Amino acid sequence: MKLKLPLFFCLFLLMQNAKSQTHPIELHPNNRVASLQMTPTEYSNWKANDQFNNAAVRQALFQDIYVKFQDHFDFIFLILNEDTRPSNLASGQLMKVSNNVTGIGMSTYNDCASYGSAGKLKAVMHLARRDYLRAGPSLHELMHNWGNFCLQTESVSSYGTGLTSFAYQPHWGFTGGSNKGQLGGFQQSTLVANGGGSYSVGTFGLNANGGNSVPYTQFELYLMGMIPLSGVNNFDVFRGITSYSSDGTTDTFQATTRTTYTSASLQTLLGTRNPSSTTSQKNFKLLVICLTDTPLTAAQWSLLDDYSEKFGRTASDGSSTYNFWEATNGLGTMETGNLQNSLNALGVATNEFTEDIRVYPIPAKNYITIETKNNIDIHELAVYNLLGQKINNFTVQQNDNKIEINMGDCPKGIYHLNIKKEDGQLFVKKIIIE
Ligand SMILES: [Zn+2]
Repeated sequence: MKLKLPLFFCLFLLMQNAKSQTHPIELHPNNRVASLQMTPTEYSNWKANDQFNNAAVRQALFQDIYVKFQDHFDFIFLILNEDTRPSNLASGQLMKVSNNVTGIGMSTYNDCASYGSAGKLKAVMHLARRDYLRAGPSLHELMHNWGNFCLQTESVSSYGTGLTSFAYQPHWGFTGGSNKGQLGGFQQSTLVANGGGSYSVGTFGLNANGGNSVPYTQFELYLMGMIPLSGVNNFDVFRGITSYSSDGTTDTFQATTRTTYTSASLQTLLGTRNPSSTTSQKNFKLLVICLTDTPLTAAQWSLLDDYSEKFGRTASDGSSTYNFWEATNGLGTMETGNLQNSLNALGVATNEFTEDIRVYPIPAKNYITIETKNNIDIHELAVYNLLGQKINNFTVQQNDNKIEINMGDCPKGIYHLNIKKEDGQLFVKKIIIE
């Protein structure tokens, strides 16, 4: 068996807690984004088979993430390390985890335990391209945490006449709003009634309006808990669509049903939102994780860090797209930073080694031996002190399936030895130098 030496030491793990972690998770030094590295096989399977939609696989991955991070996050976004969206995958997906808000058409539920959260996690998101946090559909998917589960909306599949419309929750379809909505719909102020059930509005999308290029509507902000119902101007929902056309600046459609919603009729339909906009949560915490099968390049790290900062900034992000703070008209915040404060406390790593890897002696004076069998291939070794700082001032010697590391220059104390196998699996062993 051939061991790959010399070993190289990269920034891959800062710390571990007492539970075994199966994926290496790195934190960018600015503490606004992390990466989670899958094996090439796992990553290609994740993409090819849309494993975010596989509850067991998805939940196991989040359980692993919570080995590294504390239960501080309302939302966790997984972003694929892809230049282009894999064609079989949706741009974005949101899976709801828990909800305790009533009066917005949603039941209450709590599936936190399945994900490894002690109760804080509200939803998890999957974005299929590296830049989708900035470009969207990040704001759109987030909106699905609250809507639309309250209004009966309809859509059509194409332009034309003699169309049949169909139920289209959770998107707005032919629904007006204070502006074009994150979940689709037109700007109410552009509505013109042509008579005979025909209506014209400014061009719009049935399920989205250009990713993060539009802010949330008043009604979307109400559902989120940002403003009271009295702050929502009247708007219309059209159903029974029988024709739909666009000339590029105006969309025209024929509808059999027009329902005008007022704050009073919404109150009757939905009941009172609890908690109200006075007491609702408006400041959220987000963990952004890039899924990858290769260590992120400096350029990829830099882009993800930049976009995470801009998405979480409580000021304009300086571009035409909206970040969360801008999209909520400055009423809500989505903190993406300070991830270092959410790492699990350093505990004693107690991962049980397989019979295939042995580390001895413990305690040791100088040399520690890592012995492998059954063709286990060690890819990387790194030693960290209890502050999470990497120690690399030891020398390595190779002897078949044994690696010796010289810890003689290290101060006496407890260290964590991280052993990464060729397939990406990671083991952590507590070692003692006396
Ligand atoms: Zn959607």
